[in-house]
Amino acid sequence: MRVLVNGAAGKMGAEVCRAVHDAPDLQLVGGVDPKGRSPFAGVPVYANLHDALEMAAVDVVVDFTTPAAVRSSMEICLGKNIPMVIGTTGFHHNELGEWQVRALQENWRAIIAPNFAIGAVLMMKYAREAVAFFDQAEIIEYHHAQKLDAPSGTAARTRILMQEVHQREIPIHSVRLPGLVAHQEVILGLPGQTLTIRHDSNHRESFMPGVLLAIRQIPKIKGVVVGLEHILFTDI
Ligand code: NAP
Repeated sequence: MRVLVNGAAGKMGAEVCRAVHDAPDLQLVGGVDPKGRSPFAGVPVYANLHDALEMAAVDVVVDFTTPAAVRSSMEICLGKNIPMVIGTTGFHHNELGEWQVRALQENWRAIIAPNFAIGAVLMMKYAREAVAFFDQAEIIEYHHAQKLDAPSGTAARTRILMQEVHQREIPIHSVRLPGLVAHQEVILGLPGQTLTIRHDSNHRESFMPGVLLAIRQIPKIKGVVVGLEHILFTDI
């Protein structure tokens, strides 16, 4: 599969370029960076997604950009019917629902995951299971100081998944500090006891197996799939 990475010079985009480049069954056809920065030598870089898709043959676009940029990327890819794997966070839950409806109407495909790390997906799954047994729960998410959105997409999604089981207030606390990558604790409380479910991404390589899995599975899905769990735990 021929892969184009939007946001190729960013922290995540550069890591995705390396992972795709190293995958024997995938071909990195280029990256998009508004300032023309290349993640590493030999990767063709385009100034914007529109030009890139005019010039390169692409089977899937991977997007790790910003909440402002990703929406126009989605419009462009939907218009050209090119599937997307999206890691960019900052979507509102209702907005994702609207994209799901449009994608089915227009026969477009995308996988959007707020977190591609297997451990984080399991943390969300276990928090969803545990909340049925506890009176109260709170989420603390910790990220590097440059992160643009708060609360994180992972924390917001964790709360949605937990509230599917038990409608209750689940506060989210956001910590932004240098030295952190991406970490989250779900703390559940009952009289006399707490249960803490914690996940740490200490390096961005933690997200790569999930991103590569999503790229490889994209031909098999329909519409917009939100959450890696739908391709990890289900035989699609
Ligand atoms: P980053 O280092 O700031 O990278 C974002 C890149 O996108 C920057 O290089 C930025 O360029 C570029 N960009 C901005 N507008 C663009 C446009 N219109 N077209 C193409 N590229 C554009 O941020 P990051 O840490 O890599 O994170 C990127 C996103 O991924 C964030 O939303 C973050 O929350 C999310 N994320 C998701 C996961 C997951 O597992 N799903 C994991 C980690 C992070 P400039 O620097 O010139 O603005």
